[in-house]
Amino acid sequence: MTTAAASKTKGYIAEVDQFSAHNYHPLPVVLERGEGAWVWDVDGNRYLDMLSAYSALNQGHRHPAIIEAARKQLDTLTLTSRAFHNDQMGPFLRELCQATGFERALPMNTGAEAVETAIKMVRKWGYKVKGVEADKAEIIVCENNFHGRTTTIVGFSSEPQYRDGFGPFTPGFKEIPYGDSAALEKAITKNTVGFLVEPLQGEGGVVVPPAGFLARARAICTKHNVALIADEIQTGLGRTGKLFCYEWDSIRPDILIVGKALGGGVYPVSAAIADSEYMDVFHPGDHGSTFGGNPLAAAIARASLRVILDEDLPARSAKLGAWFMDRLRAIKSKHVEEVRGRGLMIGVVIKESSGVARPFCEALEHNGVLAKETHHQVIRFAPPLTITEEELEFALERATEVLGK
Ligand SMILES: *Cc1c(COP(=O)(O)O)cnc(C)c1O
Repeated sequence: MTTAAASKTKGYIAEVDQFSAHNYHPLPVVLERGEGAWVWDVDGNRYLDMLSAYSALNQGHRHPAIIEAARKQLDTLTLTSRAFHNDQMGPFLRELCQATGFERALPMNTGAEAVETAIKMVRKWGYKVKGVEADKAEIIVCENNFHGRTTTIVGFSSEPQYRDGFGPFTPGFKEIPYGDSAALEKAITKNTVGFLVEPLQGEGGVVVPPAGFLARARAICTKHNVALIADEIQTGLGRTGKLFCYEWDSIRPDILIVGKALGGGVYPVSAAIADSEYMDVFHPGDHGSTFGGNPLAAAIARASLRVILDEDLPARSAKLGAWFMDRLRAIKSKHVEEVRGRGLMIGVVIKESSGVARPFCEALEHNGVLAKETHHQVIRFAPPLTITEEELEFALERATEVLGK
């Protein structure tokens, strides 16, 4: 790296530091181009992207079919608002319902908005269908959860930093330990309307629940007429080796939340998905979004979904993920406590005696691999699902170098 080039990176970072809120602590790399599993920085260095925008890039950077769909739609119609219909939203929702096996879908933009949509839906269902007394609805959530950053959502986070200084919070949420089905059943009252859960916790540190947890939760929710709400924003659309992570437990949730990869790394697209029993509680004026279901989003999401299904990315994730995880476990390292995950959603837990995960991510960056720590001790490996075995070998070589020292 030349000095002039190095100052190019520094200049861009200084600009962000000066003009933005300091709400992130990114790795000091400034990217300008991406293709497949690879990205290039402003100094011409190439990196393997092992984060894929927290699983929003399951199809890889600039997948040709998604870019083409976006281009085509840019040339015809981009936004109507929901005041009018458009010719992309219907086909998008039909294809989304067919792929997931639900009756209806409500399109939003970001993940947090889709979570908020599910919260509103299940509360209203509680009052109108289940018969819960006005303003008494309770939703059960898990410790160590991550469902987004709105004030309502951070209000039921167990991460002190996510809440500190942002209260007062929305009432009506109860927390149980993740994976504890006995605690779930104990927490249920006549006012419980939903159980909101990540089938595998992503931001919480790639935490896999005990075997059968979701199946037991499904049975408990059914028994007590409580809606099981699966937040598959990160785990869904092939990431864990199934189209949806809940398939590992052979269950079906009542409400499914998707986002991230639904937009193919091109555009924010999310949705809350459910059968009409839940969805039909919404009437005109109850809920909405100016950009939700816009024709550009819908065209991009249709292509993004098609790529996942046509290229069978869930099967690819299962096969490559199992192999990659085995190879990671085989690295002789005094720093690694555990390697865990499902499919290509993998966490390498660093021993506390070796410090936090951040310096390992910085060392990986210097070696041409971009990964990001989550929850201090965990290096997350979640590459595009289109990644090849050869590209994963590249990551393994670098990981061996960094972790084997
Ligand atoms: C990323 C994420 C969200 C929030 O999505 P945004 O698009 O950032 O609002 C919610 N739930 C889970 C499980 C996530 O991983």
